[in-house]
Amino acid sequence: MAEEKVIDEAVQGNSLALENKKDNTRKLYIESYGCAMNFSDSEIVASILAKEGFNTTQVLEDADLVLVNTCSIREKAELTIRKRLEKFNAVKRTRPHLKVGVLGCMAERLKSQFLEEEKIVDMVVGPDAYKDLPNLIKEIDEGRNAINVILSKDETYGDVSPVRLNTNGISAYVSITRGCDNMCTFCVVPFTRGRERSREPQSILEEVNDLWNKGYKEITLLGQNVDSYLWYGGGLKKDFGEATEMQKATAVNFATLLEMTAIAQPEMRIRFSTSNPQDLTLDVVKTMAKYNNICNHIHLPVQSGSNRILKAMNRLHTREEYFTLIDNIRKIIPDCAISQDMIAGFPTETEEDHKDTLSLLEYVKYDFGYMYSYSERPGTMAARKLEDDVPEADKKRRLAEIIASQREHSGYRLQQRLGKIDEVLIEGESKRSTAHWRGRNSQNAVIVFPKEDSKMGQFVHVKVEDCTTGTLLGSIVKN
Ligand code: SF4
Repeated sequence: MAEEKVIDEAVQGNSLALENKKDNTRKLYIESYGCAMNFSDSEIVASILAKEGFNTTQVLEDADLVLVNTCSIREKAELTIRKRLEKFNAVKRTRPHLKVGVLGCMAERLKSQFLEEEKIVDMVVGPDAYKDLPNLIKEIDEGRNAINVILSKDETYGDVSPVRLNTNGISAYVSITRGCDNMCTFCVVPFTRGRERSREPQSILEEVNDLWNKGYKEITLLGQNVDSYLWYGGGLKKDFGEATEMQKATAVNFATLLEMTAIAQPEMRIRFSTSNPQDLTLDVVKTMAKYNNICNHIHLPVQSGSNRILKAMNRLHTREEYFTLIDNIRKIIPDCAISQDMIAGFPTETEEDHKDTLSLLEYVKYDFGYMYSYSERPGTMAARKLEDDVPEADKKRRLAEIIASQREHSGYRLQQRLGKIDEVLIEGESKRSTAHWRGRNSQNAVIVFPKEDSKMGQFVHVKVEDCTTGTLLGSIVKN
């Protein structure tokens, strides 16, 4: 999982008002950066602090406590955070009692160094230590710095009911696993989020049922590597070998959890992210095909098309095995959308390796993707063993070629929807016209169409009549 996005949370004031408590007197302002896991974690944090007298506000100048949920996936992500922290100095001048805390992967990576380097920061809390926030806040309230960056073997926050922050009241994240054991050599996540552990299925289903009862129509089951989900009574995935025969016999893997969720709420639309080619099983794909309410889209990062580079990245599959997986997915679900993550310019990457990446893109013709230049992350195997030797100019050119190829294939995939009638969940107004709704089809493609008498949160059938480079255009067809 690797995304760099910033979402302005101001627009979600209305849903938050519903969650805030009348008796709470302190104000929390929280900003989230990076991947969906961080946005989901911020909702956990808001819930934990709601019980400590904090209501969440979207107005920075009203805040008593500012929390920044940080990302460490690339150097640029960390620079963004440092720049943002500078902005809080001005607010602190008008509100001297304001406290500032950093959460997430950069907090875990830097630990106490963060307090030394960023004087505005009072508190540093790692992704597994959010339940310690009440104690840490007591410390900073008494004027001391506070820090907890201990990674956990069993924390999944399964017993915390999230306060929905970045939501339109229609779609929500439900986290199912934490951490990652895959140790891809370029990735900082295993160091900042710890070992893989899965959340108890019942608590996941309760959260899904609760969301349905609150009017939500779509959930995304979330994890750094959802395919590796395995519940066998708690504990780390890597210790499954020591489980009892009974635990092994009753273990719940991702395909089973997906089926349980589809059955529990047959009207609820289900998505999941992120998959990993070395862990995705065909059982998962067959379960997707079996239930209409599981969306036909798989985010399947590949990172490179070269076998030599895949090996150097410690990605445990070859390009040929990846092609076989893609072919099998399309055999089982012919119109399944597939998206990718790709890295340009990994250490030692040659023009030949780059050509392999372009030919893989040509073979798969992904629906969309997230593409970046290699950014060396301190502490990773690649940083320790490999020199970041691909010249910036080559990285830039190769990335541009990858993006151009993806843009062409995204257009090709959108064209394939022309004339089709897609089921669409209405998520909001089109950015360009208040007379039009926007929503997504099962393939996660955005579609815009005239509102007629339909409403937000409704499922409608839309005939796809045209498309731009990134959006489908259509009109509602009556049943
Ligand atoms: S699968 Fe690899 S890239 Fe993804 S979070 Fe795990 S280590 Fe990082």
